[in-house]
Amino acid sequence: CGIVGYVGPNVDGKALDVVMEGLARLEYRGYDSAGVALVTYGGVATEKRAGRLENLRRALDDRPLAGSRTGIGHTRWATHGGPTDGNAHPHRGGSGDKLALIHNGIIENFHGLKKGLLAEGVQFDSETDTEVAAKIVGREFDRTGDLTEAMLGAVQQLEGAFTLLAVHADQPGVVVGARRNSPLVVGLGEGENFLGSDVAAFIGYTRHALELGQDQIVTITPDAHSVIGFDGEPAEGKHYEVTWDAAA
Ligand code: GLU
Repeated sequence: CGIVGYVGPNVDGKALDVVMEGLARLEYRGYDSAGVALVTYGGVATEKRAGRLENLRRALDDRPLAGSRTGIGHTRWATHGGPTDGNAHPHRGGSGDKLALIHNGIIENFHGLKKGLLAEGVQFDSETDTEVAAKIVGREFDRTGDLTEAMLGAVQQLEGAFTLLAVHADQPGVVVGARRNSPLVVGLGEGENFLGSDVAAFIGYTRHALELGQDQIVTITPDAHSVIGFDGEPAEGKHYEVTWDAAA
């Protein structure tokens, strides 16, 4: 439903602050659960809760995440699997569960993909279509060692409508996003970059936006962004300045 991604300077707590603020700004869309993943020093930590963002906030107060400069956050509107803590995003994948992924939309062919993965012995923690995407991007990362390559390999196996964001413990300063039939906007800052399902996710930080086109993948680091198509060829979204009032 709502998606936020952030990568910036190594300022303790900033990634979590930006992601939580973005989720709050996306609350107007409605949701039933919320969750975050932060790339920590040497791993990826997640927290997720059914219900209001306040439930997630309280869980984070009880068990603070040692975050660094990279984070993703999601508000969920359940389509596959009830609104429980376990079905909330992010979902994990890859060897050592080092990948975390969030998703808006529906993976139409998840059932067949899940059957194949179960037959391979992959274990699932949720009833969502999303976790199938997490397992596939994770497996592609294990094969390629690169999050952009992993996303590219995965989207070619997925059908339906999706905005996906992923982070991986082995690439701590990177967030990769992909979109098909579902929106994704990049916010371009100074030494920090943002992703959002709409500009409300990062409007408090930058007004330089880059709207991705259909079937595109974006990779952000603190200082750079790059876009490719699902065919692997270089691509470019549409740059614009957000002009409407942040309070609107
Ligand atoms: N289909 C996914 C789920 O049910 C994502 C729903 C959403 O867009 O929030 O978990």
